Amino acid sequence: MAVYNVLIVGGGPTGLSAATTTAKQGLTTLVIEEHTEIGKPLACGEGVSVEKLFSLENMPKIDSQINNQILRLQRHESFVERIVNAQRFFFGTKGVATASMKTVTINRPLFDQIMAKQAQNAGVELLLGAQVIAINPKNGRLEIRTTNESHEANIVIGCDGPSAHSVRMMGLQPPTEYVQGVEYKIQGVHTDALDFYFNFNCFKKMHYGWSFPKKNHTNVGVVVEPASKPMKILDQFIRYLGYKNIKDEEIIQKIAGIIPASGPIPKRYRNNFMVAGDAAGLTNSIFYGGISIGIHSGMLAGQTAVKAHEIGKFDEQQMSEYQKNSQLHPYTDPIIQQAHEILYNKFSGDDIETFGSWVDGWDITSLSMFRKVRLFLKALFSPSMLKKFGDARIVAHGFSKSRDWGF
Ligand SMILES: Cc1cc2nc3c(=O)[nH]c(=O)nc-3n(C[C@H](O)[C@H](O)[C@H](O)COP(=O)(O)OP(=O)(O)OC[C@H]3O[C@@H](n4cnc5c(N)ncnc54)[C@H](O)[C@@H]3O)c2cc1C
Repeated sequence: MAVYNVLIVGGGPTGLSAATTTAKQGLTTLVIEEHTEIGKPLACGEGVSVEKLFSLENMPKIDSQINNQILRLQRHESFVERIVNAQRFFFGTKGVATASMKTVTINRPLFDQIMAKQAQNAGVELLLGAQVIAINPKNGRLEIRTTNESHEANIVIGCDGPSAHSVRMMGLQPPTEYVQGVEYKIQGVHTDALDFYFNFNCFKKMHYGWSFPKKNHTNVGVVVEPASKPMKILDQFIRYLGYKNIKDEEIIQKIAGIIPASGPIPKRYRNNFMVAGDAAGLTNSIFYGGISIGIHSGMLAGQTAVKAHEIGKFDEQQMSEYQKNSQLHPYTDPIIQQAHEILYNKFSGDDIETFGSWVDGWDITSLSMFRKVRLFLKALFSPSMLKKFGDARIVAHGFSKSRDWGF
């Protein structure tokens, strides 16, 4: 049995970020990952907004920099596959709004592997192919049991993704709601923008669908309610997009995964324990992205672990500093969860159609005062929409808070 300062459950972006933070400050750090390889298997749309991600500490460093708003990419080993500075939002069938966010599509397995390399360079030990099955208090520390061995640590950080086993093992409340994401990677580049489809009339159980261009292929996926038939909806969605004649051999890969959708879990710490990323429900529940939020929340948990070691205190009060710090960041703002509820549970397909027809051709990330007034006047003369004007403002507010933090 080995004793570590910090032990991290899960070798995804959240865990690797937490580990890099603690190892850089000289703490002995072990990451336990149940799969035998980092980044595989993986379910991800691989689309990220640049603004936050590239400014985060612990991001994989490539020689590219945001320079005069242009990313200069390295030819080799770059996890960035395509710079996509155009986004389209299809609201129903009548309107296509645009956005002007800096976004990229990435090679996610490579991204995670580069993060792992960085973590190892900082001194992190990686234990692959070992599943954590129990976490219990022992001698003022936590004892972590895997299928083959046991370890002890002053602090454990649960970064085990949406399954949130560590949260359950520690007696905390896990996320209460999930959505299902399914995706085909299909040959050929079928779009030049990050496309988001909100069409509740055609797809009743679908929250939204996406089509993201990669270097040589396209990621096409849907987020749906778990009780639906995800693959059937995805097939319908591909036909709807008009990507005709997609034969089985053109589908490079099919992927599926769950995403927490109930917002941050209420308590994200215990004695000697913190939980970050998907496991803590820390996803963007409008777009369901979580890479940037994971890296950031992992870093915050790591920083709390460093401070705890400086003063030698690992109790709940000390660990609660992590949650206090994360509350300062927009991704924990309750407005995002309110916007999620309204957008996906309250708005009808017809509401979306009407809204789409009003904003057709507009850049919805920078509405002028004139356009805002125009929207209000349109709502004023549309009794059904007027009732929902307050709701629409919450969705708009939640959207603007969440958009940098990722899809
Ligand atoms: C279909 C789909 C599309 C998505 N698209 C995007 C997107 O385009 N952009 C975006 O930002 N986000 C996207 N996301 C969300 C994003 O993938 C997650 O938010 C992100 O991976 C969270 O990182 P994490 O490190 O918290 O969890 P994960 O990446 O899930 O990593 C957790 C790790 O813990 C390991 N683990 C679990 N249990 C144990 C255990 N008991 N013992 C040891 N190891 C364990 C797992 O094997 C895994 O490697 C998507 C998700 C899905 C499902």
